[in-house]
Amino acid sequence: MIFYNTLTKRKETFEPIQKGKVGMYACGPTVYDYIHIGNLRAYVFSDTVRRALEHEGYEVRLIRNITDVGHMTDDDIAQGDTGEDKMEKKARAEHKSPAEIAAFYEDYFHGAETDMNLLPAHFYPRATAHVAHMIRMIETLIESGHAYEKNGNVFFDVTSFAEYGRLSGNTLEQLKVGARLEEHPDKRNPWDFALWLKAPKEHTMHWPSPWGEGYPGWHIECSAMSLEYLGDSFDIHTGGEDNIFPHHEAEIAQSECATGKPFVRYWLHNRHLLVDGEKMSKSKGNFYTLEDIVEKGYSPTDLRMLFLSAHYRSQMNFTWDGLAQAKKNRETLASLADRLEDAGASTGPDIAAEPREKFLAAMEDDLNTPLALSILLEFSTAANTALDRKDAFDARSAIAFLKEAFGLFGLKREKESAPPEVRKLAALRESARLDKDFTAADELRDRILAAGWTVEDTAQGPKLKKK
Ligand code: AMP
Ligand code: ZN
Repeated sequence: MIFYNTLTKRKETFEPIQKGKVGMYACGPTVYDYIHIGNLRAYVFSDTVRRALEHEGYEVRLIRNITDVGHMTDDDIAQGDTGEDKMEKKARAEHKSPAEIAAFYEDYFHGAETDMNLLPAHFYPRATAHVAHMIRMIETLIESGHAYEKNGNVFFDVTSFAEYGRLSGNTLEQLKVGARLEEHPDKRNPWDFALWLKAPKEHTMHWPSPWGEGYPGWHIECSAMSLEYLGDSFDIHTGGEDNIFPHHEAEIAQSECATGKPFVRYWLHNRHLLVDGEKMSKSKGNFYTLEDIVEKGYSPTDLRMLFLSAHYRSQMNFTWDGLAQAKKNRETLASLADRLEDAGASTGPDIAAEPREKFLAAMEDDLNTPLALSILLEFSTAANTALDRKDAFDARSAIAFLKEAFGLFGLKREKESAPPEVRKLAALRESARLDKDFTAADELRDRILAAGWTVEDTAQGPKLKKK
């Protein structure tokens, strides 16, 4: 398996720390709003990484966290020490407790995971359940001179970590000439970031700590939770490109300074899903949710198909036309699967062998899903032609390839097409009808009905519809 590593800025052959096993952490949702389809692109991406590794025989342990405190509204600019906590803000606006807000949007998130056919993570740690771990880690960082406290706030001293900036390219020299930050009176350097924040009086989320009542910064949460569930060093960390800086840069600094060990081997980042050329985001309000997609007659699988049509390392502009094409592609593959199943176990040359090899090679090359998808669609055209011409070929191998590809792509076979036993009944009924054996035809129609389907006789032949 080859992955592009944001840390080294090149493609690398994947080598796990422990033979046959992969430890993987994917930054999860901040549960203050409905996740949007941009977020889903990030989760489908990490799910595809996992599926590809499992296909190669690795045993993957995936941790996807739930951020339910500490993610500030201005993280990008201010490194988590100004702005408001997103959870607090939403709780106040809806007159609910932050815990109620978190529970509601976390449930919604898990529902979307199921709809999108994302394999469940092995654990979903919540930040609020790991505050003690964070406090311990911050204490270690203060003791070793990497962090300092002032007025109940604790900051990480970025000048104490020589590697700072390696992931994002934002080294301290670069940052000095770049954007100016609003100076925080308690900070030693403008680029120091918050590990712990003193809770303002009106804040409902606060915990006792050696530095007074406060709450953790967003970055320390992911460090504490990933180290807890995957160990000091692990294999893969994923997230969207906006996570590279400051979030992941900060995670590396805190974790390596706290443990003295290398943190993560492979950093993988998906680029953004855009809408009208702009990042789709909750804060901009320019987002679609899964419900918007379904309301327009598309399925979550169509959306997944759309994501696969672009490489994860290229930006993707969301359009309804693109989604319509994705739906067509999904239907093409589904109808081929139906036809192959109906054709049964015919024997002959293995027309799937070469496309399968090419398909797997594309997936192994940094998940080149657009190439893999085009190979699959070409195969579909070839197989349909062979079926039309009644050429002899190995249908079982063709079906096995389709199943394998669906598994790697995480595509559900949506059963709007009738199952094979119902299609068989419909075929029997059709031949009874042609033989003018109407008693048998009616009896078969009843059996089809009992299986939950209706049959309509159209000019193009009988059509099955779900009752
Ligand atoms: P958040 O809930 O904002 O922390 O985001 C959850 C995940 O979705 C993170 O990995 C983000 O990087 C990712 N993400 C957010 N917006 C987009 C987008 N428009 N396209 C792709 N990924 C995104
Ligand atoms: Zn994170």
